[in-house]
Amino acid sequence: MKIESDFNDIDALGDDHIGSSIETPMRADAFKLSNSEKIDIIKDDVRHILETLGLDLNDDSLNGTPNRVAKMFVNEIFGGLDPSKKPSASTFDNKYKYGEMLVEKNITVYSTCEHHLLPIVGRAHVAYISNGTVVGLSKMNRIVDYFAKRPQVQERLTIQIVKELQNVLGTEDVACVIDAKHLCVNSRGIRDIESSTVTSEFGGKFKEKETKREFLDYIQLDTQF
Ligand SMILES: [Zn+2]
Repeated sequence: MKIESDFNDIDALGDDHIGSSIETPMRADAFKLSNSEKIDIIKDDVRHILETLGLDLNDDSLNGTPNRVAKMFVNEIFGGLDPSKKPSASTFDNKYKYGEMLVEKNITVYSTCEHHLLPIVGRAHVAYISNGTVVGLSKMNRIVDYFAKRPQVQERLTIQIVKELQNVLGTEDVACVIDAKHLCVNSRGIRDIESSTVTSEFGGKFKEKETKREFLDYIQLDTQF
């Protein structure tokens, strides 16, 4: 009876899109296999799923699918599980003594819901206030992309981006807002096409009302180019 209720809890957790921790749950032996060994194994697993569904893998159109999906999982959409792909932590001195908020907005987010393995598509807005160190602007995009390329929960993704930038910049004053559509909500289940999910994490000075307001005003700016 105990086991059954545990399974029900796990199902409900996934259905409600609730994550269990800030760290991506990884096993200790996660990197014992090389990427090419992982691709070989996953290829057979994908073939097994498609064959179980009754598809004829001898068809020219389907023949390459298992290998294609396996490579895409390991090298692309889940490539951010591999710590060697983490963007380098290079920073610069803040030569201009720019002491105001820096906002990088509308960073494209392509991630994958870890409960259904369907896409999460949206925008991230990231901000920090330098305490003497700055990062290249593209570094913020790369950090977002690195953590997005994992099976994810949007809340965890938001926090992981903030924590990484806090580490790199040596300041608590970092914030992130993500507005994203979850295809598991938009295309199946409740099939709500319009809804999106907004998550936010405010560190240091961004917890203060005025600083938070300034950031939120910037990301609402409708600038035309
Ligand atoms: Zn989902």
